[in-house]
This record gives sequence, structure tokens and C-alpha cells, in this order.
Amino acid sequence: MRVWPTLLLAACAARTPAPLPTIEMAVTVDDLPAHGSLPAGLSREQVVERMLAAFRAHRLPPVYGFVNGAKLEKLPEGERILRRWLDAGNPLGNHTWSHASLNEMSAEAWLSDVARNEPLLEGLDPSGSWKMFRYPFLFEGDEPAKKSAAKSSLRERGYAIAEVTIDADDWAYNAAYVRCLARGDAAAAEELRRGYVKAHLDELGYVRQLTRELAGHDVRHVLLQHIGALDADRMDSLLTAYEAEGVRWIDLRTALADPFYDMQQLRAMKAGASLPYLLLPGRDVHPPPRPAGTEERLDQLCSASNSPRGS
Ligand SMILES: [Zn+2]
Repeated sequence: MRVWPTLLLAACAARTPAPLPTIEMAVTVDDLPAHGSLPAGLSREQVVERMLAAFRAHRLPPVYGFVNGAKLEKLPEGERILRRWLDAGNPLGNHTWSHASLNEMSAEAWLSDVARNEPLLEGLDPSGSWKMFRYPFLFEGDEPAKKSAAKSSLRERGYAIAEVTIDADDWAYNAAYVRCLARGDAAAAEELRRGYVKAHLDELGYVRQLTRELAGHDVRHVLLQHIGALDADRMDSLLTAYEAEGVRWIDLRTALADPFYDMQQLRAMKAGASLPYLLLPGRDVHPPPRPAGTEERLDQLCSASNSPRGS
């Protein structure tokens, strides 16, 4: 008879799902007030409103939006979008004036592009919360002297660096999605909507494994998104899917307080990449195998050189 309690316990354990891990993550959005092209019938203001509605529905803490001031010159509603972002309780950060690539110019020229963005940000938010910086293209400098000159100057100017851990190439999905809708390929557009969420779940799983190897523990994550058409369409689904994986939302400064973000890159990299990948060169870490070629596949999808399906 002594066996019964054991069996009962085993049966209960079999019915109880394993507890979810707690994954801490901050959401961030790049290229405000506008990213990429839009499908017909969708406005820039609708894109921002859809994003803000998803943030509210999921009770996200304040979400940093990184600004390129040059975009306001061609977008009459640009300043309204930035003010709307702030009014909804979300801070703005600096993403350079013209989305300048540190790999394509001297550190001095690049830093003057950073400074050119500051009067706009100061005018919109005199509190100084905008002293948060995101590198365009995630290019942190292609050679060591330039990389360290840029980073130390940013720190002297009072910036925190908004590093990224989760980058699932959302921008490439956005571009392909708009192209597929423009050519009326609804099946391809639907496939992209599904693929977008799956790619973000896969990248989280992969990066969790990689960062555990690098840091020896679970780190707080920073997700990179853009203010694009498909991002706006999928934001609510993505947040729901991440919550089902055990994600708990934190703000960016809390995420960056994780000592993981103090880890030093041992070699400068020409390629733009999220921090876990930048930390790999020179370290004895063996990342798990990962499928390659997603960016190239998305680049081809519904492109001019690719004829529509079935024709
Ligand atoms: Zn950007």
C-alpha cells in the first residue's frame, strides 16, 4: 500500500506543466519617426498607434524609441509622431541625425552626426532621458581605435549605450512584406506574418543558450524592433508569444544594469551584430549551430528579379 502515495504524486507531476522560466526583456524600437516603406492605405501615424496600443495591452514599462532627426525634413507628421511617443509615456533616444554608419566615416564625422541630433531631442524632452544611444546598423566601429574613440566620446557626452541581444532581422521581414502586398501576393505576405513571430522565438532560444555560455547565467535581454509596417501588425502577437515563453517585461535601463553588458569585446568587428555575437571573437565559446541565409531569402522574396508565384 505504501506505493499509492508515490503513484499519486507521479500522476500529479505528469499533469502539472513544467514551470516557465523567467526571462527578463526590454523592448526597444529603432528609426523613429519612420522605418521603410508602407503598404497602400497605411499611414505612419497608424503604425505608431498600433505599436503604442500593443505596448499598453501588454502593460510594457516605458519603451525607448531611437530617433533619426533627418527624417523630419521629409515627413510633415514626423514631429507629431515623436510627441505622441513621449505623451504615451515612452522615452526617446539618439540614433544619429542621418542614420550614419560608423564603418563608412571617421569617428569625428560620425560624432558630429550624433551631436546634430541633440537639439531636437533636448527640445522634445528637456528631462535628458534621451541620453541613451543606439548604433545605426549596430555598427560599433570596424577597427579598434575608431571603436574606442566613438564609445568613449559617447560616454563623455553622458550616453548609456543601448546594446541589443535579440535581433531577428525584423527590418528584412518589413521590406519583404511591403513588396509582397504591393504585388498582391497575399499567401507570401501571410507566410511572412507567421515567419516573423517564429524567427523571434527561434532567436530568443538561440541567444539564451549563447548568453548563458558567455556569462555563465541567464542575462536580461534587449529586443530590437523597428517602427515598420509588419512590426506594427505583429507587435501584439509577438508580445503574446514571448509571454507564453516566460518573458517578463522590464525597462531598458534595468536590462542594461545586468553585468553582462559590461563584458568587453575582444576584437572589433566590421559586421553589425547584437552584443552576444560581438563578444564571440577571441573567446573560447562554441555557439550551437544556427540556420543561415534568412536575410538573403527575405531579400529575394517578391523582389523585382523574382517573378510572382505560379507565373
Ligand atoms: Zn536604425
